[in-house]
Amino acid sequence: MTGEKKTVAIIGLGRFGQSMALELMADGAEVLGIDNDPNVVQQMNNRLSHVVRADATNPEVLEQLDILDFDRIVVAIGNHLESSILVTSYLLRQGVTNIWAKAVSEQHGIILQQLGVEKVVFPERDMGKRVAHLLQGGLQEYIQIDRNCVTVMSSAPRVFVGKDVRPRQLLQQYGLAFTAFKDARGQWHHLPESMRVEATDTVVFSGPPQQVEQFARQYL
Ligand code: ADP
Repeated sequence: MTGEKKTVAIIGLGRFGQSMALELMADGAEVLGIDNDPNVVQQMNNRLSHVVRADATNPEVLEQLDILDFDRIVVAIGNHLESSILVTSYLLRQGVTNIWAKAVSEQHGIILQQLGVEKVVFPERDMGKRVAHLLQGGLQEYIQIDRNCVTVMSSAPRVFVGKDVRPRQLLQQYGLAFTAFKDARGQWHHLPESMRVEATDTVVFSGPPQQVEQFARQYL
């Protein structure tokens, strides 16, 4: 692996692994993808820096691929629980600390965390939660930063339309940080001192989940 590109090894090129691998490639990373399914490997060939068909539970395979030299290793095997755990525990035994792993259930996540995985991601669970918030209407984006902070995107709140709003004042009034406004021309205004809001505008704001939900129910 050469240059200053981030090098990422993705073990398991299912829907999650593939979409992450392609996004990383688009961001200019060097990506090695490993999967034991020949159809998957054929599909991804030439789309990643390297694609290898191999059983990742075989330690020799991972050694030959110099997997330990990668900046980050992602175990994106979800539904094959045994493989996910075998691969992860092998990597941890080799002293790898920079592992991210996908969990398909809470129990799977607990095992990965107990093994010592640096970051466990729950794509299905988190996407389900996000969509639930969007389904209730009003919000176009909902990103949970942590338990006490979410960032959302929505159309212009009704109470703002036709008015000059000041983010500093909005913070005092609603306890929410309005950080960006998109006007009808598609131009973003970040933390403006003051902003004339039209009905077609879009806003981004952050705050505690309950406060954000309450504001959305009342004003969107
Ligand atoms: P998704 O839900 O993102 O599609 P899956 O868990 O269903 O994820 O897919 C994981 C991928 O990991 C599959 O493409 C599968 O072929 C691959 N995989 C499973 N076990 C191994 C293994 N031992 N070695 C390499 N690849 C594996």
